[in-house]
Amino acid sequence: SDRVETLEFQAEARQLLQLMVHSIYSNKDVFLRELISNASDALDKLRLASLVDKDLSVDASDLHIEIEADRDARTLTVRDNGIGMSRDEVVGLIGTIAKSGTAELLRTLRESKDAAADQDLIGQFGVGFYATFMVADRVTLLTRRAGQTGGTRWESTGEGTYSVETVDEAPQGTSVTLHLKPVDADDNLHDYTDERTVREIVKRYSDFIAWPIRMTVDKPGDDGATVREEQTLNSMKALWARSRDEVDEAEYKEFYRHVAHDWADPLETIHMRGEGTFEYEALLFLPSHAPLDLFAPQGRRGVQLYVKRVFIMDDCEALIPNYLRFVKGVVDAHDLSLNISREILQQDRQIRAVRRRLVKKVLGTLKDMSAESYRTFWTEFGPVVKEGLLEDPDNTEALLDLVRAASTHDPAEPTTLRAYVERMKDGQTEIYYATGENRATIENSPHLEAFRAKGYEVLILTDPVDEVWVERVGAYDGKTLRSVAKGQVDLETEEEKEKAEAERQEYADLLTFLGGALTDSVKEVRLSTRLTTSPACVVGDAHDMTPTLEKMYRAMGQ
Ligand code: ADP
Ligand code: MG
Repeated sequence: SDRVETLEFQAEARQLLQLMVHSIYSNKDVFLRELISNASDALDKLRLASLVDKDLSVDASDLHIEIEADRDARTLTVRDNGIGMSRDEVVGLIGTIAKSGTAELLRTLRESKDAAADQDLIGQFGVGFYATFMVADRVTLLTRRAGQTGGTRWESTGEGTYSVETVDEAPQGTSVTLHLKPVDADDNLHDYTDERTVREIVKRYSDFIAWPIRMTVDKPGDDGATVREEQTLNSMKALWARSRDEVDEAEYKEFYRHVAHDWADPLETIHMRGEGTFEYEALLFLPSHAPLDLFAPQGRRGVQLYVKRVFIMDDCEALIPNYLRFVKGVVDAHDLSLNISREILQQDRQIRAVRRRLVKKVLGTLKDMSAESYRTFWTEFGPVVKEGLLEDPDNTEALLDLVRAASTHDPAEPTTLRAYVERMKDGQTEIYYATGENRATIENSPHLEAFRAKGYEVLILTDPVDEVWVERVGAYDGKTLRSVAKGQVDLETEEEKEKAEAERQEYADLLTFLGGALTDSVKEVRLSTRLTTSPACVVGDAHDMTPTLEKMYRAMGQ
């Protein structure tokens, strides 16, 4: 009938599926975590919808996740009675990948020869629903969107096409049935129709899920016969609501994976609670690597807002500033309306106060991190944190103390501004820096010569944002931040100044001549005190843009 359509996966989805079918992962168990995580999200959404829209005809009385294993048919089904999907949503959400960075990720994977690195990469990206094709050679999904009457049946072998069919009857929510591959197909494949296996995987990965995950299991009865019994496999405790000493490291890590969609461990965990007039709990994480969309214009922030255990929204920009967009986690605020909108949140005084506290806490955590962790952190997120120097004037001091910069002092070791100041030579009053595309270009630049000759340390700044923050901040610890490429740098002693003046007299005619000859190209020709080996160099005025900034603006079409 025309209600059944066979459609092609979007090109990028197809490639990602290929990777999953011929899986590069050794740990295939994680497909179950992905399904449970999706089911849990769908239940969160349904609960919120039912609370906010009283007219929505849904049953929110017994929201849960159900796992059903059929040994004979070799199928495993994960079912939820959550929000469900419309036919268009199925096509849009399951048939395509909306994540930014997909194309780039796939290109990297195609060119790579290192399987372990590939696992890492794709894990960071988060494979979600497609992980089912690691363990199944056919997947069927039946779903009905809350409030709609008909349902949608989707099926695929993961090989390029899928079918979608509109069906008259479907229970509320979504069920995903995996037609499992034979167990001997692969060493890493467990028997996912085995109760104990399923129970262990759920415990390991999904214990904190806030909805009951149920399974009907065989149990020995009193008289030796087996009886069927429905059990809840998870403890369901919202981690953030427990006190720190009730939560162990492994639980934090699993929770992180759930909220961050990341398969790597977090670098730091921040668990805090605010009491008094405005109560809240926050469980935040600093990831160990940057996501692919860190600099994408529509890149998302990673903090979810809950109100008394009810999920309200992802990507809550009111709680965390843009320059900390890599922070992942949950904030559960007790005294907010479930209907709260993003706009209202932005204006809410108490939410602003929470945000200030979260920022302070994150910056404090960064300050106290071990040198090794911090090095990893800075490599991954340094360029983003420096955006804070433009965005968040209240925390300039704290942010400046977090900055690490390459320097001529020790090529192998980035320095803090504090350490730079402590190394400043007698008579040095300013902090010198050079900006450019990369270290090699900067080090070969003639601008550095005089500083090198004098033994002055120069910071080597290569991130595009560096140009902007040094201008904005202007000084550290009362010492001006001075570009080596701008204006006249005063490096001379009195004696040298006299000598220079004498030289200027001596060469006055030459300078006038050169100035005349180059009048269309430069503003002024003067004798330089910067150069030791190069015969000449072009410098900017103190108020000109540095060459890198000029290039940046040109690239932006200005
Ligand atoms: P992610 O969860 O990271 O968005 P997935 O591949 O796991 O990626 O899922 C893609 C999308 O499909 C989800 O964002 C969700 O909108 C939809 N989806 C998946 N499973 C379900 C489900 N059980 N109920 C409702 N929607 C679902
Ligand atoms: Mg998912």
